[in-house]
Amino acid sequence: MALIPDLTTQFHRDLAAPEWLASLASHIGRTLASHREYQTSDATGIVFSGYNEDRYMGPNSVCKFFFVVDALVVRRNRTLDRDRYQAWLRYEPRTGTFRTRSELIETRELLEAVAYLEAQIKAAPSKQHVDRLACPWCASEISIQFSPSGDSFEFRCGRHGHFFRSVAVSEPPSWWREALGVWRRLDGADDATA
Ligand SMILES: [Zn+2]
Repeated sequence: MALIPDLTTQFHRDLAAPEWLASLASHIGRTLASHREYQTSDATGIVFSGYNEDRYMGPNSVCKFFFVVDALVVRRNRTLDRDRYQAWLRYEPRTGTFRTRSELIETRELLEAVAYLEAQIKAAPSKQHVDRLACPWCASEISIQFSPSGDSFEFRCGRHGHFFRSVAVSEPPSWWREALGVWRRLDGADDATA
């Protein structure tokens, strides 16, 4: 696992010494090797932070220890295709360890399974059918929410965020009003729904 830092603040640059990067690469490599669809640590990725300003680097800041790793993973059959893996992590400075808070799995197999899920949702005759569908990665329930206007929906692994899809529809299914939830926009604001 090769990891390239893309960090902005002086605090992060000082933190991301070669030993720190090697420790993070090892954490990600172990995770990839233990995942049933990856089973390899042959990967290249970048580590970055969503908090790139000095005002987040204060002594009591927690978010200064939040990092994201975005990696391309070599497939076991050594084709030119790469699978993708993203992890949102928290570094624990006292123990010098990393804790994965959530992860996004993008193997070819999982993407195919999620495309099949999308077809099942669109064809579902009732909300009850959708409630029985499960994350193809971890078997958790899936979370589905329609936009208030019914012209799009999003669905995701309800527990770990292993996948996320946003889908536009011209004809919402009959049960879509039951699946109205709080529509989370990308800017993080929540729309109240009727
Ligand atoms: Zn899942």
